[in-house]
Amino acid sequence: MNDFSDVKDTFSDLVSNRRMPHAVLIEGGTQEKRQNAAKFLAMYAVCSSDTRPCGVCKNCIKAKNMGHSDIYTPKLSGKTNIISVEAVRELIKDASIIPNDADTKVFILYDTDKCMPEISQNAFLKILEEPPQSTLFILTAESKKKMLSTILSRVQVFTLKNEKAFDEQASTLALEIVEGILSLNEHKLLLATAKLNNRVVFKDTLNVVSEYLRQGLSQSVGNNLQSDTAKAIAKKLTRQRIIGLIELSSKAIIRADRNVNMALLTTWLCGEYRRISWQR
Ligand SMILES: [Zn+2]
Repeated sequence: MNDFSDVKDTFSDLVSNRRMPHAVLIEGGTQEKRQNAAKFLAMYAVCSSDTRPCGVCKNCIKAKNMGHSDIYTPKLSGKTNIISVEAVRELIKDASIIPNDADTKVFILYDTDKCMPEISQNAFLKILEEPPQSTLFILTAESKKKMLSTILSRVQVFTLKNEKAFDEQASTLALEIVEGILSLNEHKLLLATAKLNNRVVFKDTLNVVSEYLRQGLSQSVGNNLQSDTAKAIAKKLTRQRIIGLIELSSKAIIRADRNVNMALLTTWLCGEYRRISWQR
């Protein structure tokens, strides 16, 4: 069973504020990720424990298996699998009835950009304008751009990261780390490495850091790379130190694969980066 680790981060603000909106739209990512995210939120909404979603209470387990009596997904109809206006009306009727087991009644509408024609979206608008107490509507869509603006103004949008955005995150973070290594201010590196709190981000980022360092090494042996980062590395660090940093990055990636504590690993990494770059 999925542990939701790939979608949890998206909702961290919501979970820490403990304020559940009446309606959310989950967009971006893959279809599988969106479904997973919707399940996570549904579980969060019905969980009866203090730390939600606990994953072990009766409500959570039923939600995980999509067998919870307070979690609904409207029937799709026709050859094109749409959520018809009739299905929306049915849903509106259902929403006015109080939940059975949980405190919240959850409605999940998958792929609304494809399954909900404008006429259904307009019918659905009615309930978003005056949502009944204790209901949560979860909509998923590949992109929010395909939804009516009137719907969008009444839902809280959560965007899942796609793989490309993930690469961008790794590059941005890698640059911060390189700047931290080159900076006299130790705090900068500490802040940057603290963001490596997840194994995948850690490894992806360090691979990019290594790439920057290799470019720096290439620059320092006389190849002019025209890259500001490579130039800065070559200017501030000796070849010996750059090689040491590349080796350290590889070592850290191997360590991340073993089940070590990430906080300890990043602290160690930060200290070692500083030692190799600056120790006399
Ligand atoms: Zn629970």
